[in-house]
This record gives sequence, C-alpha cells and structure tokens, in this order.
Amino acid sequence: MRVCILGYGLSSLALTKALVNEKIYVDVFCTKNIKKISQSRTIGISKKNINFFNKHIINIDKFIWKLKKIHIFSDNLKNEKLLNFQNNNDQLFSIIKNHQLHEILEKSLKKDKYFKKLKLKENFKFFDKYNIVIITDHFNSITKKHFNKKIIKKYNSFAYTCILDHQSISNNIATQIFTKRGPLAFLPISNKKTSVVYSFKNYKKKEDQVIIDLINQYNFKYKINKINKIESFELKSLNLRSYYHNKFLAFGDLLHRIHPLAGQGFNMTLRDIKIILNIIKKKRQLGLPIDYSVNKEFEEEIRHKNFIFSKGIDLIYEFFNLESKLKSNFLSKSIQFTGNNPTLNKFFSSIADKGF
Ligand SMILES: Cc1cc2nc3c(=O)[nH]c(=O)nc-3n(C[C@H](O)[C@H](O)[C@H](O)COP(=O)(O)OP(=O)(O)OC[C@H]3O[C@@H](n4cnc5c(N)ncnc54)[C@H](O)[C@@H]3O)c2cc1C
Repeated sequence: MRVCILGYGLSSLALTKALVNEKIYVDVFCTKNIKKISQSRTIGISKKNINFFNKHIINIDKFIWKLKKIHIFSDNLKNEKLLNFQNNNDQLFSIIKNHQLHEILEKSLKKDKYFKKLKLKENFKFFDKYNIVIITDHFNSITKKHFNKKIIKKYNSFAYTCILDHQSISNNIATQIFTKRGPLAFLPISNKKTSVVYSFKNYKKKEDQVIIDLINQYNFKYKINKINKIESFELKSLNLRSYYHNKFLAFGDLLHRIHPLAGQGFNMTLRDIKIILNIIKKKRQLGLPIDYSVNKEFEEEIRHKNFIFSKGIDLIYEFFNLESKLKSNFLSKSIQFTGNNPTLNKFFSSIADKGF
C-alpha cells in the first residue's frame, strides 16, 4: 500500500516517519513555495508524547532539553507564584527547536526506502492511484474545496518569539507570566539559552524594541548577553467541522490550531498520530484495506476530544484576558487556591501530558 501526504511541515514529517517505520510506502508532496522553518521557535513536548515519539517516530532523547518544573505567575499577583507544576524525578516537558526537529526527521526519511519526496503538480489527477490522501498543507485547491468549513477565532494578537543567550545557570524550570498584554513564556533549551514566546494583544505593528523592553522588564532570572532575531506569528484558533472528505483527510494545524499559551498544538497532533497509527495497524493485522474507512474511524475517535481540548485552552486564554481587564485579583487567587490542591494539580498535569 502507498499513502499520499501533502505538505512538508512537522506534522507531515512526523506522521510520515511513523508510517514508514511500519513499512508503509509514503509519497510526500510539497508545494513550490515551502515555508522556511522558523529558527527562533521551539516546541514543548509532554513526557508521554516524548515516549511515543522515541518509540514510534524517532529517538530524540539526545536532542531534547528536559524540564522538571513549570512556574506560573500573573501580573495581578505581583511576585507570588500562581501555580507550580513539577516532577522532581523525571521530565515534565521537553523542549526542542522546531528547525532541529524538522532536520532530524528529514535526514532520517531521506535514507528510508519507503519514503519519496515529490513536487506537487497542478493537475490533481495523480491522486487517483492512492486510497488515502492526508493533507497538512493549507494552500492547495483540495484544502480550499473540501476543508473550508471551520470554526475560527482571531485573537487579535501576535506571538513574538526569540532565543536569549545568557550566562550559564542550572536551567530546567520553565516560567510563564500572564502579563496584562498576554502570556509570556521563558522556555529553557540549555544552561546558556532560553527561548521566549510572548503572545501580545492588540499590537499589530512589530517593533522589536517594545518586545525587548518587556522581556527585560519581566526577566528576573537570566543575565542576558544577547537577544537573537525576533519573529512574529499571527494567532488564531481553528477547528475543522469535518476531518475528512472521502479519501482526503486533513491533519496537523490544518485540523486544529490553538493559542500557544499551553504549548499544546503539536502535542495534539502527536496524539492524533498515535490514534491513526493504531487504526492502520489494526486494519493491517485483520487484512483489511487501508482506505477512507480509516478517515471515518479517526474522526469518530478524536474529533470531539480535540474540540473540547481546544475549547479548554481558549477558556484559559479568556480567563486571563478577563482578569487583565479587572482591577481585582480575585480570579488569580481562586486559581492559586485550586492549583494548590494536590489532586487538582495532578489532574491538570495529567491532561497537559496525555490529553483526554
Ligand atoms: C509561537 C508558537 C509556539 C508554539 N509552541 C508550541 C509548543 O511549545 N508545543 C506544541 O505542542 N505546539 C506549539 N505550537 C504549535 C506548533 O508549532 C504547530 O502545531 C506545528 O508547528 C504545526 O505544524 P504543521 O506541520 O501542522 O503546520 P505548518 O507548519 O503550518 O505546515 C503545514 C504545511 O503547510 C505549508 N504551509 C503553511 N503555511 C504556508 C505558507 N504560508 N505558504 C506555503 N506553504 C505553507 C507548510 O510548508 C507545510 O507543508 C506553537 C505555535 C506557535 C505559533
């Protein structure tokens, strides 16, 4: 059997690698104008998903930076900690640079006889020979024709990302601050480097100096030597109403996109890969064809869970958005109270790790 995948981002390459590991031929088609992978962006992957990645995609253990704690603050509580998630014995979350993960996947796929990289043609007739076509690419006529019904929310915000070079410190605690302008995260990637994601409200025109000043204002931990190139990304959340159309299945950020405040977008896709892989494996064991029935089963199993998960992330955003408009710190105080309850703290950590 041969699977066709459109797009050449992280979702496409991770899914392709998982499939070729199962000795399934995968033809990956990319558009002429491939987006350059960001050099300033990092990706946080939960412990459960790292285990899955290492076992079923590729072992990235020597490339990841392991974090044991996440400290969360809010402008409204001044220096008091809002929440604290930790796993003293092992990693809670791991960080890797987007472009490094892309390179690792691409390098290993190029050596694999089950993988072929092809140029996307204008004439889509060539899809006829595939039983299943998985689409991660946003800009092609199939996406426009079959995957245009979605629930979109624009945050009227941009995420600004950069890497800080700083003096060496023991650096395995991530920090997130819910500032009045939006969430700001410091995500360590080594003892000398930390990545920053600042999701910034009502601010359309990028002015690096404003971002630099705010990073300096909220940084109380690092002796910064250099702030590297700042990049920006428009923030929106979306959920497709229908995951598939006959043999075409949407995947990755094309299916669901969420606010990066909890670092869960790619984690959702990894959970999707796990599910589709299990469906395909079961069908093969039973000698059943790998056709559009995979798409139907996939949608039935995960769509409602993904929708609830996305709504949960949006709720967190709206919660802090509301609080930033209020003069009281009542909402933060109630979160602090809830988060100090060990059972609830464990429950939230488990959802961030495994999903539903
Ligand atoms: C600031 C930020 C921080 C994040 N942090 C985390 C995190 O810590 N943890 C986590 O799990 N997730 C995180 N995410 C989400 C994660 O980055 C995405 O889920 C993931 O990168 C999506 O990969 P993709 O391959 O599905 O989509 P894309 O990278 O959009 O690629 C899809 C396909 O479409 C093509 N494409 C897309 N746009 C264009 C274009 N303009 N022109 C031509 N082709 C195009 C690409 O080439 C590719 O083939 C973050 C997102 C942001 C914005």
